Amino acid sequence: MTSHDFARYHRQTLLPGFGESGQRKLLDSTVLLLGCGALGSVAADMLARAGVGHLIIVDRDFVELSNLQRQVLFDEQDVVDSIPKAEAAKRKLAKINSEVRVTAIVDDINHTNIERYAKTADIFVDGLDNFETRYLANDLAVKKGVPYVYGAAVGTTGMAFTVMPHTAGSAAWETAESGNLATPCLRCLFEEPPPPGTSPTCDTVGVLSSAVAIVANYQVAETLKILTGNFDCVSRTLLNLDLWANEIMQLKVTSAREKGNCPCCKQRRFEYLDGKVGSSAASLCGRNAVQLRQRQHAKDFDLDAIAARLRGHGQVSVNEFMLRVQIRDGDKDYEIMLFTDGRAIVKGTDEPQVARGVFAKYVGA
Ligand SMILES: [Zn+2]
Repeated sequence: MTSHDFARYHRQTLLPGFGESGQRKLLDSTVLLLGCGALGSVAADMLARAGVGHLIIVDRDFVELSNLQRQVLFDEQDVVDSIPKAEAAKRKLAKINSEVRVTAIVDDINHTNIERYAKTADIFVDGLDNFETRYLANDLAVKKGVPYVYGAAVGTTGMAFTVMPHTAGSAAWETAESGNLATPCLRCLFEEPPPPGTSPTCDTVGVLSSAVAIVANYQVAETLKILTGNFDCVSRTLLNLDLWANEIMQLKVTSAREKGNCPCCKQRRFEYLDGKVGSSAASLCGRNAVQLRQRQHAKDFDLDAIAARLRGHGQVSVNEFMLRVQIRDGDKDYEIMLFTDGRAIVKGTDEPQVARGVFAKYVGA
């Protein structure tokens, strides 16, 4: 381990259960941050300041103006430059704490890549915006015996829960002196995702920035407890809050695993991780957009060549990360975004088949 200046962490090492030994554990640990939007940017900021050794940030999106209300790591210049969130976060974090190693990955997390990104991670922190990927993270956490800190915020409400997987005794939290500290998993609590279109989204009901910040900081506290080995301090309840209604609840869920027959942590069927559930065309949560990804291992996009071809169809802008084109198709307006890794997002529709059609028409199937 390299030598670190512990002075910057002095106020933290004073805390009970922390000390220099806790700080050393933190500096030696790797956090996989799944998503770097609202929750993720708050969590990344705090984790970098706290001095985690390695932060792996995976996010598929680019910074947009409407993000700035709550996504604290980004600024107006990131919007102007169309910088991917993971990359923009990495640049900001380097200025905040240059001791922290940050790996920025611009990609959509799915069952084909999550294990690769998670390989060295000691913990998964949830900054996601959809159930499918959360269940995927939960599957991997249970399969590998890695803690997973779930968090979500929409409207004025927020939720958080820490999954400490059951590992039949091999995990440190199951052999702690205070007894077995394993918890239910996310699917013990919510066995199936809600049907599409039934949950409120940030685009339909908005989101209060302070609800996001509270949930993310709660997740960070849980992460710091785990990484410093303070397993007995980890929350064993489901946090559920509504700041506008002045409600903060801690729901007891410890018996959820015993009561049910969880497909994930009891039957050890990892349906999301095995790719049995999930799709290659995903409607993006309330954003009137569909993301397309080739199932087969297709070649990456040559953005410049495509840009040259599309200039006759609409306004095209291109940089090293993405191509964006505005298309008028019949009486409808669409925006197609192509990323170098072979992904595309079609804005202007919620229907995968319409998106595939527009994409095929202008970019090619
Ligand atoms: Zn479970």
